[in-house]
Formats: sequence, structure tokens, C-alpha cells
Amino acid sequence: MADTGSQAGIGGEIYALAAELYPICRSITGDGVRRTLGILGRHLDLTVHEVPSGTPVFDWTVPREWNIRDAYIANAAGERVVDFRAHSLHVLNYSVPVRRTMPLAELKAHIHTLPDQPELIPYRTSYYAERWGFCMSHNALAALPDGMYEAVIDAALTDGHLSYGEYLHRGEREDEFLLSAHICHPSLANDNCSGLALLALLAKHLAGRKTRLSYRFLFAPGTIGAITWLARNEAQAHRIKHGLTVSCVGDGGGPTYKKSRRGNAMIDRAMSHVLRHAAPAPDIIDFFPYGYDERQYCSPGFNLPVGMFQRSQFGTFPEYHTSADNLDFIRPEHLAASFAMITAAIDIVEHDGRYLNLSPKCEPQLGRRGLYGAIGGDKDAAAKNMAMLWVLNLSDGEHSLLDIAERAGLPFAVVLATARLLEEHGLLAPLREDPLERLEL
Ligand code: ZN
Repeated sequence: MADTGSQAGIGGEIYALAAELYPICRSITGDGVRRTLGILGRHLDLTVHEVPSGTPVFDWTVPREWNIRDAYIANAAGERVVDFRAHSLHVLNYSVPVRRTMPLAELKAHIHTLPDQPELIPYRTSYYAERWGFCMSHNALAALPDGMYEAVIDAALTDGHLSYGEYLHRGEREDEFLLSAHICHPSLANDNCSGLALLALLAKHLAGRKTRLSYRFLFAPGTIGAITWLARNEAQAHRIKHGLTVSCVGDGGGPTYKKSRRGNAMIDRAMSHVLRHAAPAPDIIDFFPYGYDERQYCSPGFNLPVGMFQRSQFGTFPEYHTSADNLDFIRPEHLAASFAMITAAIDIVEHDGRYLNLSPKCEPQLGRRGLYGAIGGDKDAAAKNMAMLWVLNLSDGEHSLLDIAERAGLPFAVVLATARLLEEHGLLAPLREDPLERLEL
């Protein structure tokens, strides 16, 4: 995993997959989720689970399945003035069906707009209250003349299934790294076509590699999907030793890492380390019980070490939950950078461990071994020398490579490469412990 040199095209690949997912109208259940899982499944060996409506999952119940064929508002001349076929955000997500003609004044009670962002269509849902409605730009609503309008939502709410997709990349160990993305949002590019596409291609990237940990990928509707997964996998959930919820990873903001409820888990240290070296001003924030599915993974009955990774934090950017969160808002270079940050954290949990300095009495003579970059003024050589001095000094059996990287202010990858170099020269030996056992302390 340390090799990230072949990622020049990964941003473009993630972008293309996000663009393919973008037009689909998804919700917490229904064929939009299935179509999305079908597309993701072309990149990884995805298992699709179908859980019947009405299934109890802890304090919740798997809801009915929502499928929509068409929705529009038509004027008296029969012209569509709002058309779901033009944008999936135009319908209140999970609306009950309706077919009624009424005056505009009455219809307005069912129309959602953003007066402060009058060009944009808002994203609105009504999962747990039976309502119908439309979303449109405030300007388009203001331009509608009074009169009679026909409101049609050709949707069905029926007993069916909740669908989610899962893929396990098996490593040497049963211990797992969970990577989870919500699949319930309709045409919103950053939130969360970006996260779905990034994780699908990360799974593909891992599939050909030998890893120490196992990697579980979960593509499930927000809240109810994670709750359903936890209810069905309660006995195995303890295998999750590290985890991330991944969303909004295609914009240029942040990066943002929200710590797990534990606050000091290995994933919290690894992500904080990666972000500090990836950006001048990362947002590393403490856990709070709101946000994405880390809320469920970090509920007290599970308290799993799962944090949240985003670029701009949800709710903080003006495009959030509007039609401006479109394919122009996300960029291949930001997706590639987000991918590199997650793979860097994976490198840490895969390779962290303690080493022992085999020549601990005073400094070993590095120059004699050709290790000391003695050329004055060569900044690169000076940095390499400092890395060697740090690794040798702190490899007393107490400090792990991540401890050393944090204390020295060096990227983990540099410390790891240095440890391997010193090992080749007989100056360092890995402690024959299982570093993963240590992580569980
Ligand atoms: Zn959202």
C-alpha cells in the first residue's frame, strides 16, 4: 500500500464513476439503490443484501420500499413546470403518491425552495412522516402565474426490501477495517456519489493486494442501513478495529476528520497524522453524536473505533444539500487527494510496529555504512539524516513507528522507509510482536 505512485489516474476514475451514479434517484430503499449497487458491483465483488420491510432492527423497523416512476407539476395547458425527469431533487424524497389539481396558493404548502439561494433546488426528505412535496428554485416558483396546477407523484410505497451492498477483502487477520458510505442520497455529487465511487475503487485497488487486516466495505442507506447492518452483525462487530465513514470527498475544502467516540483509537491517531501532513490547516474535530453513520457505529452499545472523513465538513458549504452539489462541484484532483489520504491511513494501520536499535550505545557510525548524506546544504539528505537519527534514537522497544513519526514531525511513510533501510543495514530489527495485538490495548 505504500506505493501511491500509480494513482495519477485514480481521480479521473473516481470522478467518472461518481458521474455515472449522479443522475440516479436514490432513497433509503428502492430500485435507485439497487441500480447504484449494480454499477458499483462492476468494480468489486459486491454482495447485495435484501432485508424485508417490517424487520425489526434494534429500536427501528425496516421501512417500506419507495419506488418512483415520474413526478411533475403541470399548468392548465398541460406543460410541465416542474419535472422530476429533469432533476431527481425536484421531488420530496420518499413522498407518498399524489395526483391532484389545485390552485397555486394551495400547492405552495407542498413546495420547498431556498429563498436565500434562489437559483438552487433544495434536497428534502420525508422518511418517517407521510407527506408529499416538490422542491424547486425560488426564482422558478416566483415566476409561476396564479392558476390551477396538477401535482403528480407517481410513486409507490410498498412492502419490499431495504438493500445494501457489502464486500470483504480478506487479509491475514480477521480483524477488520470498516469503510462505510451512505447510498441514500439522490443527485448530489459530493454527498455522496464521491464517497461511493472512492470506496468502490479503493476496494478494487485492495483486491489484488495482500494485507494484514481484512477490509469491509459497506454501501448502505444512511442511519437505517447502518442500524440494519449492526443488528444483523452484532456478534461480529467486535472484529472492527478501525473504521471510517466516507462522504463529501470530492471538493477542495478541509480535509476534515471527526474522531471516533473513543477519541484516542488508532484510527484517530492515524487520520490526524495523515491530515496534518496532507494540508496546512486540517479540521480535526472531536466526536459529537450527529453527522453520518459513525453515529450508529459509535453508539454506546457498540462504541466502535470509527471516525468520519470528509473534505469540507457537511453543512458548512453553500452547495450542501442543494442542486449546486453537482458534477462541477467535485474535481478529479480532490478525489485523488482524498483517496491518497485514506490509503496513507491504511498504510499506517498495516505497517505500524516497534523496532529495536541493535547498536544503541551511542550513535552508530552511519557514514561508514554509506547511510549518512554528508553533502552540505542538500535539504533532502538532511531530512533523511534526521529521520535516521529519530528512528534510531526512539527504537528502544517502547515507541512504534507512528509514535516516532508524531514526535519527529515526519510523515509516517518517511519513518517506515527509514526503518526498513536501517533494518537492511543491520542496525534495526522489528520486535517480533504482533503489532495488531498492541493496537487493541
Ligand atoms: Zn447528506
